Amino acid sequence: MNIGPYSLEDYMHLVKSFHGSVAPGLIVGGFMVEAAKGELPPGILYDAITETVVCLPDAVQLLTPCTVGNGWLRVLDLGRFALCLYDKTTGRGVRVFVDPGKLDGRPAVRDWFLRLKAKRDQDPVRLRDEIIAAGTDILGVRPVVVARSFIAGGRKKGPITLCPACGEAYPAADGPRCLACDGNYGDIIICDLVRKRE
Ligand SMILES: [Zn+2]
Repeated sequence: MNIGPYSLEDYMHLVKSFHGSVAPGLIVGGFMVEAAKGELPPGILYDAITETVVCLPDAVQLLTPCTVGNGWLRVLDLGRFALCLYDKTTGRGVRVFVDPGKLDGRPAVRDWFLRLKAKRDQDPVRLRDEIIAAGTDILGVRPVVVARSFIAGGRKKGPITLCPACGEAYPAADGPRCLACDGNYGDIIICDLVRKRE
């Protein structure tokens, strides 16, 4: 069995070195990314969205050209274990998720995915075996179109200006002050704390 260009064993090694541990979410995530890639027309340039901040972003980064750093992967904190790969010009693509209706007969996967059991009460070997045996059978795959505003989104290019509040450079298109100082991202207070200490 392969995940992308890797044997399952090689993929697990890769996951361990990149992610720190062979988390179940990275194994499921590997199948999810491959299922999504298989639905895309060959040769297109695609972007990615994950709907969770855990595990899935790393599966996408390991198995596709999309990374957080190159801007082709957007990580949304929606709390759903799902990802989307889509044509970066048309927004047409595919969304892959773990389908709770397909977990019957896979008790270890169900207990892990739905958090029905504490981690210490789960059997990691059985869980891994069940995930591998299931492969893409526990997944839902749906065609989607990503909203144009979202595709065009990205970080704005254009002129840079200095924020009158914090003094740092930011895209002028964001408004009279940088987004951090504007209060739209109220929990980003790191720069304020650092400044107070200086
Ligand atoms: Zn600022």
